[in-house]
Amino acid sequence: MSTNRGFIQVYYGDGKGKTTAAIGSAVRAVGQGLKVLFLQFFKKNVTGELISLQYLPGITLYQFGSGKFILNKQWQEEDCQEFMMGWEMAKRALHGEDYDLLIMDEFLYAFSYQMLRWDDFFKELSTRNPKVEVIITGRKIIPQFIDYADLITNMTLIKHPYQQGIPARKGIEY
Ligand code: ATP
Ligand code: MG
Repeated sequence: MSTNRGFIQVYYGDGKGKTTAAIGSAVRAVGQGLKVLFLQFFKKNVTGELISLQYLPGITLYQFGSGKFILNKQWQEEDCQEFMMGWEMAKRALHGEDYDLLIMDEFLYAFSYQMLRWDDFFKELSTRNPKVEVIITGRKIIPQFIDYADLITNMTLIKHPYQQGIPARKGIEY
């Protein structure tokens, strides 16, 4: 099997570490001269990575979201429009030459909330520029990924402060 092509990686589950693993992968990639497009879906808060990654040449980060959806689990028209803009940018990156690594953070929500059909997603991914490695994160995976992805990690929740009602902490969780 050829290893010259980019792989599809999925980090999912209820435990901490999905977005931070994606950030780590982005940092590693630029160190080796790869170009990274980091898209944060359904987010609109000033995350630590939004600030610090701007200092690293070779990583471009954009957010697409109303900022309300992940908390409310109730999406509005704005979330959908933002999602579609992000997905359009992702498609351009998948088919273009500009990026070696495309990160789609929290993208799995798009499937759980029926914003995107698997078939449409599959068509774009399977016809992508083969050099592009893709990392997708989110809480819930859909079964189609099990066969399709090359690498899947389940971040299993054992213990997390949010179980004690402690909200996300600045600099630690965002
Ligand atoms: P990190 O960004 O630290 O790597 P993650 O990407 O694995 O975390 P997410 O699922 O994106 O985790 O959750 C982001 C934040 O939302 C968590 O750090 C936590 O503060 C909060 N959170 C996570 N799971 C839950 C939950 N089930 N209920 C309420 N809040 C949660
Ligand atoms: Mg996350």
